[in-house]
Amino acid sequence: MTSKSWIERDRASRLQSRYTFPEVLERGNGTLVYDTDGREYLDFVSGQVCAVAGHAHPKYADAIAKQAHTLIQRGSAFTDTCQIQLAEKVAQMCPGDLNKSYFACTGSESNEAALRMAKLITGRHEVAALVRGYHGLTAGSFGITGLGGVFREGYGPMQPGAVFLPAPYVYRCPFKGCDQDGDSCAMTCLEHGLDTLRRTSSGRPAAVFVEVVQSAGGVIVLPPEWLREVRRLCDEWGALLVIDEAQTGFGRTGKMFAFEHSGVMPDILTLSKSLGGGVPVSAVVVRDGLAAELEAKGYYQSSSHTGDPLLSAAALANLMIIEEEGLVENARKVGELLHRGLEQLRKEYDIVGDVRGLGLFLGFEIVESKETRTAASELAETVSAHCQRDGLLIGHVPGAVSENIIRILPPLTTTASEAERALEILGSALAQASS
Ligand code: PMP
Repeated sequence: MTSKSWIERDRASRLQSRYTFPEVLERGNGTLVYDTDGREYLDFVSGQVCAVAGHAHPKYADAIAKQAHTLIQRGSAFTDTCQIQLAEKVAQMCPGDLNKSYFACTGSESNEAALRMAKLITGRHEVAALVRGYHGLTAGSFGITGLGGVFREGYGPMQPGAVFLPAPYVYRCPFKGCDQDGDSCAMTCLEHGLDTLRRTSSGRPAAVFVEVVQSAGGVIVLPPEWLREVRRLCDEWGALLVIDEAQTGFGRTGKMFAFEHSGVMPDILTLSKSLGGGVPVSAVVVRDGLAAELEAKGYYQSSSHTGDPLLSAAALANLMIIEEEGLVENARKVGELLHRGLEQLRKEYDIVGDVRGLGLFLGFEIVESKETRTAASELAETVSAHCQRDGLLIGHVPGAVSENIIRILPPLTTTASEAERALEILGSALAQASS
């Protein structure tokens, strides 16, 4: 059956809750996915940034099949051998005293749980988060999501409202404080953020939520000095620093966790997409001392699927693959190659305004010209459509919030030759869009 007829069935039966591409995907293998018309694509968004070990990895698929024949589910008042092994593995892979996990399914849920923890620990209700941050679409996680547009219009206020601090977006520093051609942050945004915090709240939040690399917000990398200062402020306020590594966790940025680039340790780490490798597993990892406090205060959190054996077995297999196949190092190396290639394209094409990112978490801005830096969303859509036609899926969704920014997040298994092939396709798309 062709993609066209599948799409007709999709329209007839499924609520069209967001833009859907006209190609219908059917199977995948490694970095490649195939549609129902038999066309092959390099998947440079890893599904929804989850398939970090690529598609249909045999060890991952076998672990899921084996567990499906053993024990899929248990009551949430029990624990089981898979959940215990996953918790141990997560503790072993996290640095320092980030040793205790609570498991859920989605990234939104992990941030909801982190919110409940921060409130119980501090006895406070206000939280701070960043403009352009994305933490989910459930009520609490959406309340700390600093994005408007399609996410917000028509839904009214959600709970709890966060105080939003401006993100350190160096390329487009809203305060013109940064050296626009350099990579350093003048921290002017933080001064303004603190002023807003003092004027609109008690100034003593329960927690500050950040992504080290904002993804939906447009691949904004928090400068290490900015993050270190926020860590210091959290300590001063007695607030918890919550780092959301839904996308960056487990190697994507060329280090096991993105916070390791700055040496800043979170109090609470939320993990999802890359933890499960494709199945829905998320975790909230807390420091030992915090876990003891939560337990003493009778912290209650649960869900029908907390740490399900099937999900835990899949996540465990995914983490073993990341370690055994040296995927963190591969992300660093192939990421450097891709970053260099994108920099080269930036030099060649006036419509590529900025290239940024860490490891295999990269992005570039499509602009009208380097001089004006005016965001060019339609051109970005053209570039993306050319790529898709030529067999490369990249992170650009028509109608999304950061429309002129293209994200590149291939599986951590991506080879140098796949990266080179992607750069060729991108080059040709940029040439066509520029002409
Ligand atoms: N946090 C971050 C950083 C994310 O990128 C996402 C998903 N895009 C979420 C939270 C929400 O995860 P989910 O869609 O699994 O609820």
